Amino acid sequence: MITDYSQILQKLEQLKPVKYANTRNFINGDVSKLSPYISRGVISTLDVFKYVIAKGYPFYKIEKFIQELAWRDYWQQIWINKGTLINSDLKNKQLGVKNYLIPKAIIDGKTSIKAIDVSIEDFYKNGYIHNHLRMYIASLCCNVAKSHWKLPAQWMYYYLLDGDWGSNALSWQWVCGSNSHKLYYANQNNINKYCHTTQKNTFLDIEYNQFNDLNIPKELIELEDIILTTPLPKMTKEIIIDINKPTLIYNFYNLDPKWKINIDANRILLIEPSVFENYPISKKSMEFMIDLSKNINSIQLYVGEFKELKKITKESNIYFKEHPLNKEYFGYEESRDWMFPSKENYNSFFKYWKICKKNLMSI
Ligand SMILES: Cc1cc2nc3c(=O)[nH]c(=O)nc-3n(C[C@H](O)[C@H](O)[C@H](O)COP(=O)(O)OP(=O)(O)OC[C@H]3O[C@@H](n4cnc5c(N)ncnc54)[C@H](O)[C@@H]3O)c2cc1C
Repeated sequence: MITDYSQILQKLEQLKPVKYANTRNFINGDVSKLSPYISRGVISTLDVFKYVIAKGYPFYKIEKFIQELAWRDYWQQIWINKGTLINSDLKNKQLGVKNYLIPKAIIDGKTSIKAIDVSIEDFYKNGYIHNHLRMYIASLCCNVAKSHWKLPAQWMYYYLLDGDWGSNALSWQWVCGSNSHKLYYANQNNINKYCHTTQKNTFLDIEYNQFNDLNIPKELIELEDIILTTPLPKMTKEIIIDINKPTLIYNFYNLDPKWKINIDANRILLIEPSVFENYPISKKSMEFMIDLSKNINSIQLYVGEFKELKKITKESNIYFKEHPLNKEYFGYEESRDWMFPSKENYNSFFKYWKICKKNLMSI
């Protein structure tokens, strides 16, 4: 995965926002693969929106692409509004739960559904899964194997380079019905169509009305409990703070190289053990974050809690970007970039999108 800022910006050149609408659900469709950079705060949904609009595409031709960007902003707004409530069943209790573990076949990529197994194998190598495969995997775990969504979601978040707990937890809950009104199912026909496979006679080779009576298939019966821990990096040298300069805090969700680029400041990549204990990430995800941070001039790594860092920075003014995981920070909080900055609590995406779209079309 590339981490150099100028190469990341070049990825914008490769976008195919018009073809996106008809191809995005296919495993080889014209998806952007920008999520690792959007999730890490290197670029914003607003940057991407402005870029495609500046290219002169008429709004109606790229509406689907913009709508998907809006999903990300929407899940973030819910995270801000609901806080840690998103860590448990948000709107409804997940029904039919038989365990709070994860099917071993998912972890091993041996579900017997070829397209899913290949995607899990790739996932461990690349840290990315296509959206449709994420939905298939979540549906298998929650709606077929009857696992509660939380542990499988944490497993996925752990390995995703685009790990974003808002999009992750809320999408899992959307699939299993705890944040939506119905469960999401995909049968083998659907998987074959979108993944270009021809598999037959699997436990998913059924009609949709048969899902209600589907027993947990033997392939998904064995379960695992997993303990996910974050390999924290070692600090090789003490950080140096000039207290006459402001201190800018970067973290897992803010690695924006453009942020206050023209000011002379202490720039700190803050890795708080408490955050990564609650929301663990893999070694690859940690390395990806650190590599991305190298786009930020003279950034220094600090592994420790904000309150400890605060003692070192002394009188230096602290600046940070708003995020639900930054509740313990204090100093000057700045807004993130949004396509549609609204603090209202929308109860459904489509209500949000209606207003968001009107707003965007007037830009
Ligand atoms: C179970 C499950 C877990 C998920 N976990 C994450 C996660 O941890 N982090 C994450 O960034 N996304 C997550 N998503 C949303 C979505 O799958 C990814 O954002 C998308 O696949 C990223 O690929 P892309 O950049 O090629 O997206 P594209 O299809 O090219 O879309 C462009 C951008 O729009 C946004 N976007 C697109 N689809 C969605 C969506 N359904 N929800 C929210 N934003 C979207 C992303 O920022 C994405 O980069 C999850 C979805 C599901 C179903």
